[in-house]
This record gives sequence, C-alpha cells and structure tokens, in this order.
Amino acid sequence: MPIHSKHPETLAVHAGFRTAPGTHSVAVPIHQTTSYQFESTEHAANLFALKELGNIYTRIMNPTWDAFEQRVAAMEGGVAALAVASGQAASTYSVLNLCEAGDNFVTSTDLYGGTWNLFANTIRQMGIEARFVDPTDPEAFRRAVDDRTRLFYAETLPNPKLQVFPIAEVAAIGRELGIPLIVDNTAAPVICKPLEMGAAAVMYSATKYMGGHGTTIGGVVVDGGNFDWAAWGDRFPTLNKPDQSYHGAVWTEAVKPLGPIAFIIRMRVILLRDLGAALSPFNAFQLIQGVETLPLRMRQHCENAILTARFLRDHPKVTRVIHPSLMEGEMRRRADTAFRGGYGALLGFELEGGAEAGRRFIEALELFYHVANIGDARSLAIHPATTTHSQLSPEDQLASGVSPGYVRLSIGIEHPDDIIADLSQALEKV
Ligand code: PLP
Repeated sequence: MPIHSKHPETLAVHAGFRTAPGTHSVAVPIHQTTSYQFESTEHAANLFALKELGNIYTRIMNPTWDAFEQRVAAMEGGVAALAVASGQAASTYSVLNLCEAGDNFVTSTDLYGGTWNLFANTIRQMGIEARFVDPTDPEAFRRAVDDRTRLFYAETLPNPKLQVFPIAEVAAIGRELGIPLIVDNTAAPVICKPLEMGAAAVMYSATKYMGGHGTTIGGVVVDGGNFDWAAWGDRFPTLNKPDQSYHGAVWTEAVKPLGPIAFIIRMRVILLRDLGAALSPFNAFQLIQGVETLPLRMRQHCENAILTARFLRDHPKVTRVIHPSLMEGEMRRRADTAFRGGYGALLGFELEGGAEAGRRFIEALELFYHVANIGDARSLAIHPATTTHSQLSPEDQLASGVSPGYVRLSIGIEHPDDIIADLSQALEKV
C-alpha cells in the first residue's frame, strides 16, 4: 500500500516498502542475488523489451535497491531514482546520460574536488567539455550555452565557501533554453528540495548524510519527471534518437506507458548495464537504515551547527566563521530561499596563525575525528591546506576559498555541549 504523506519523517520510514510478500518481513530484506528466475519465456521477453518492469540481473536492478530508490524518490518529490555504487558514479552517469563526445555542459566552479577532477580531466578525455562558471552570477550559465550544451550542473552547498547555489535562478534560465539543471544535494538532504525549485534531477553521495553511519559508499540519482525532453528534440539525442544499443529504442517514446522516466530508465538500462557501477544489496540495506533517521539527524546536525557557528564567531582566536546562518546580504537570501529547517552542518573557520595554527588545532581534537569525509553522525574535522587542497598552489587554494588557517568541520549529532567543549579545549592549545 503506498504511503500518502508529504512529511519526510514519515516517508523516510515507510515509503517504497511495507512488508515482504511471502515472509511478511517488516525490515527490507537483503536480496543478495545476482539473478532472478523468469516466470515464463513470455515474461522474460516482456522484461527485456521493457513492456513490463521487473528484475533481470543485479547489475541493473535489485529489490533491496528498489526500496531505497523509491524511498529517496518519495522524499525528494521525484518520480523515480537509481541507486549506484558511489556519489562519483552518480555524477558521472548524470553527465554521460545526456552528453556524447563533442557535447558540453555548464557547471559551477564550486564543486567537491573529486567532481572537479572528474569533469576537468576524465570526462574531458571522453570528448565532453565541462564549462566552469562562477555561481555567484547565475547569468554566467546562460552566456556559456551553445547548441551542444546538454545540462547545467551544481552543488547546493559546496564547501569550503558554503555559499548556497542559486538553484531557482539557474533552473529558470535552463528551462528557457531547454537545458536541465542537475543538482548535487549531498550536503543538504531534507532541508533543500531542488526539484521543487526547478531542477530536473538531483543526485547524492549517499555515503554522507543519507547513510550517516560512515560505513557505506553509495550514490543515488533522482529523476524529477518535470523536464520535457521530447520538446527539445535536438538538444537531447541520447533520449530522443534511436538508441542503437537497445534495439533502436527512442527513450522518450519507449517509456511513455511507464511515466515521465526517460532520463532515469536510460541511465539504468544503458549506463548501469554498460559501465556497471552497481550498488551491493548489502550496502543498499545499510543506506536504508540510515535514511530512516535522516530527517531526525538533519535537525540535530543543523541545530548543533548553528550553536557551533555562534561559539566560534565569539572566540578570540577565530578570525572568520563560514556558515550560511552567519552570512548576510545575497548569500543569506539564497540560503533562506533554498533551505527549510536549518542551514546545513558544514562549517568553516579561519584561525589566526595560519597553517601551523590549523595543524595544532587538528592535533588537539579529542572528540572530532580527523578524516576526509562529511555527513557522518560523528563530528569530523580537516585542515584543507595540508590535505584536500595541498596539491593546489597557494593562489588556487585562496581562489577556492581555502586560506592556510582554514579548518572545515562537519558537525555531528553529539550533544552540542560536548562538541563545543572539544573545540574550546583544542582552541586553547593553538
Ligand atoms: N559530491 C559531494 C558533494 C561529495 O562531498 C562527495 C564525496 O565527498 C561526492 C560527491 C562523491 O561521493 P562518493 O565519495 O560517495 O563517491
């Protein structure tokens, strides 16, 4: 029975799965199987011809993923989702689903470093050009478009700058020109709904807040079902021209009986089939456990981050705190437009004393973990100048928002008094 609720707290626990047929199991079972027996030759033929949707082989679909996918799609307000092996696979597939060699896409410069590398190097080697533009100027996206531009790409809350992306503005420009905006919403699940603001698809590194337990790498892409791919026929050859690798199927036509899911179906049956970044069923199960408490955790993450930001703002050794709750003017307006119920739990601050102070601070932490990750239930810290950004020149570090004394925090769900006490004692040792 489908669950009718608009509340993420309810959907996180109930959407996409009720009980397992046959066993009546309430928890989503781990379907650790490679393949699925067909009921008949006709059934097999229908599945392969996409006349019916059903399980064929776990590189392409799996019932444990299916529960995860449906749950995330419901929470996001999308029509369908695809689970993949990592956030990197999710962003790679988001681009490859629309671009062929010779095409281009326009992307915000403010990206996770792994995504930057992927776009600037690996995707470029495939003959697809990433055109990087400054997200503080939404019109820069329009100016970078030509006939071969297939999508806009951005992160909702990119660190280290933590300036919220103008989703509604860029999505609107895209809709005028027939270009979908795809948003990496990894840092802002539940508090931001990019599809409601006009994005065509949303992707996550589920490794972060969605799982939350720091045990599992995974990714997911959600199709908003709100973009008319067929109306812009020439713009999207991968969806509107016969697909030689699937008996000449035209995806926007072939999936009509199934709903507005051409984008996500093609990603599943072509990209996942051919490139194979399949999520393990066990990892899907782990991510489902995480999603159940995601709305609850996000609330605590966000509350703790606001308290931490205020504590750091008032600390004499801290010269600057970067958190949307403390921003003013246009950046605060963007955060208030995009977010409901918090400003995210990523936070940056700058220490008087530069790199050496940053190093001493990290060494002194007791509760915080020193790791290259975000979105864990535990509080995490890193000093980008000596880790994630150490390969960049000092000028490029500064351009990307990292000064030598910059520390990045991912605020966890511990009691805020303990988070602040740890920061306080570490600051004393700087
Ligand atoms: N997108 C963002 C915003 C991230 O922070 C990360 C990882 O740090 C990724 C994508 C890549 O995700 P994964 O590590 O699951 O491949």
